[in-house]
Amino acid sequence: MKRLKIIEKLSQFHTASKDELAELIDNISDSELEFLRQKAQKTAQKHFGNKIFVRGLIEFSSFCKNDCLYCGIRRSNKNAVRYRLTKEQIMQCCRQGYELGFRTFVLQGGEDGWFDDDKMCDIVKAIHNEFEDCAITLSLGERSFDSYKRLFECGADRYLLRHETADEEHYGKLHPKEMSLKNRKNCLYNLKKIGYQTGAGFMVGSPYQTTQALVEDLMFLQDLKPQMCGIGPFIHHNDTPFAREIDGSVRQCLLLLSIIRLMHPNILLPATTALGTADKFGREKGILHGANVVMPNLSPIAHRKDYSLYDSKICTGDEAAECIKCLSGRMKNIGYTLTVDRGDYKKIDE
Ligand code: SAH
Repeated sequence: MKRLKIIEKLSQFHTASKDELAELIDNISDSELEFLRQKAQKTAQKHFGNKIFVRGLIEFSSFCKNDCLYCGIRRSNKNAVRYRLTKEQIMQCCRQGYELGFRTFVLQGGEDGWFDDDKMCDIVKAIHNEFEDCAITLSLGERSFDSYKRLFECGADRYLLRHETADEEHYGKLHPKEMSLKNRKNCLYNLKKIGYQTGAGFMVGSPYQTTQALVEDLMFLQDLKPQMCGIGPFIHHNDTPFAREIDGSVRQCLLLLSIIRLMHPNILLPATTALGTADKFGREKGILHGANVVMPNLSPIAHRKDYSLYDSKICTGDEAAECIKCLSGRMKNIGYTLTVDRGDYKKIDE
């Protein structure tokens, strides 16, 4: 009974205490999870109907100056194949995406100093000029306030920067000494202040993650109030220090998607590629648990497998057109349709 009450409270008031959240994370039964799932799905449907937003992901650089212990493109991974797309290649990806109906492009890469503000601004402006009706999302890691501001002024609309974990101690176990949770959070607050639709997020089941850390993640989201939140299971990568760590659980990821949907009824919440990698029907399950976004890959096939954050990543061999066909079929099978819409965040009065 206790947990059903917590779920009711989340659904009605969009909040719960730390203890209540921990109780759900630790002890939810399958039937209670089903109850939560239905509430989350209904909430998503109330705001978005049966429409799923599509973001075209362009992975434009696999160079990274950081050394995050979980990530396959960390700088110490000597086996990682490094590539950079040229501006023209990026524009080609957008053109192809536009033809296929994409109205949001996400440029994601490692933290690659080669793409300084001048180069990035040039690319953002070019996309903005050629595709006026499209939203431009950046996911380039940590940069200065001024850099974020310049990119925003050049036409970037959104920024994805997962906080990865909101627990200091845990953050320290996933990252090298020179990185800090404080700076990560600061970047997120800066992005919001500048006016970006901002996305935070974290991995589920990353090594050393505790229930307390997950509760902190949920608390941090309540504080930041991001417009988007990306979560996916941790998946090991063979050439990292976490090669032998256990992958995150799909069930726990789905549970968290549903909790986040109830805490942030109109948030943009992707069913991630990592979720689709951990489970053949992970993305479908994600949508049924309250997610409302999918992010198929628009990167050139020749480089897909080199943007290897974790092992066994799906869709590394498929043309964008095939990806969108496959995804649209998958969504149709569960009663949803992909929409050609920028899918901007919309405020609600509640
Ligand atoms: N450099 C950018 C993009 C990082 S890659 C940035 O710092 O934001 C995008 C996301 O992939 C990361 O934020 C991380 O949460 C996720 N990721 C990295 N390695 C992963 C792994 N081994 N398993 C699951 N997700 C991973």
